[in-house]
Amino acid sequence: MKTLALDINEESLSLAKKFIEQGETVAFPTETVYGLGANAFDENAVKKIFAAKGRPSDNPLIVHIADASLIENIAAEVSSDAKKIISSLMPGPITVVLNKQKCIPDCVTGGLPTVAVRMPSSPEAQTFLRAVNLPVCAPSANTSSRPSPTSWVHVAEDLDGKIPLILKGADCNIGIESTVLDLTRDVPLILRPGMITKSEIERVLCKKVFYPDKTDKTMNSPGIRYKHYAPNCETYLNVDGNTESITEFLRQNPAAGVVARDCYQNLADKFFSLGKDAYSGAQQVFAKLREAEKVCDRIIIVWDLKGEEADSVLNRVLKSCGGKIV
Ligand code: AMP
Ligand code: MG
Repeated sequence: MKTLALDINEESLSLAKKFIEQGETVAFPTETVYGLGANAFDENAVKKIFAAKGRPSDNPLIVHIADASLIENIAAEVSSDAKKIISSLMPGPITVVLNKQKCIPDCVTGGLPTVAVRMPSSPEAQTFLRAVNLPVCAPSANTSSRPSPTSWVHVAEDLDGKIPLILKGADCNIGIESTVLDLTRDVPLILRPGMITKSEIERVLCKKVFYPDKTDKTMNSPGIRYKHYAPNCETYLNVDGNTESITEFLRQNPAAGVVARDCYQNLADKFFSLGKDAYSGAQQVFAKLREAEKVCDRIIIVWDLKGEEADSVLNRVLKSCGGKIV
């Protein structure tokens, strides 16, 4: 298949609309990561997302909408907690899990009775969704298990020849995927941490919010058990910023690259900057892993920042390295 990569304008948006209506997939920018979208009501189109990504079929997708009013077509009921999240935090990098309407096919939800809904804030994503004028289900637009795409170039790296169209927008501002908040349980549960934090959600809901009990398998988001965000070379993680152990690792692995905040740049020649703080770390982490894997035989990520936003980045890098801590 020939993959078109087009700047976003009237012409490319009308082509995107045509592709989505015809049951094809389209990659589009959002503030979190690039998504690979299809008409959420069209089972065959949704299956093309799984095929292009090599994604396990029980890993559900997020339904993206441009306007809050559309949520009633997707969710069976919009609870008062859901309404608070919608009015205070949407559009933005947060996804809510609600009980689904019958019209949402099982292949979108991985067979679950619930559906994940998100309203992206990026003007480019909004323009795309408004042009298409249908709910668009989308996971990240990368090959399954690879670092998520935060630039259209990453989408092309993974999916060229497998999808008909990439809308070339700006690089993603947030850089890690949305916070996933399950509102179908007795208490609100954060299934995936993101840059909208637990404290922020608690402030909006005026109640305690929880993380799933890791020992209770029924509480986990389906995507959690799969390999995720992994570069194509051996990757390790240092979480304490102890320069002695990092230097020792580099002595044993002289061709390794270091992905870390600027304060560690003297540690190695092959250095890939995560900037100064948790926000720049989130924005850059996947791009830097993709840069590093091209020129390094091993990668060591140093992520020693504390705090809620930093912990969301930690959640991603722990998966990138498959739990290999040095
Ligand atoms: P991605 O952003 O590519 O990781 O894909 C969407 C994520 O949303 C997956 O990791 C899923 O685990 C999560 N998700 C989607 N639908 C549901 C749902 N109904 N219940 C729980 N998690 C969901
Ligand atoms: Mg993904």
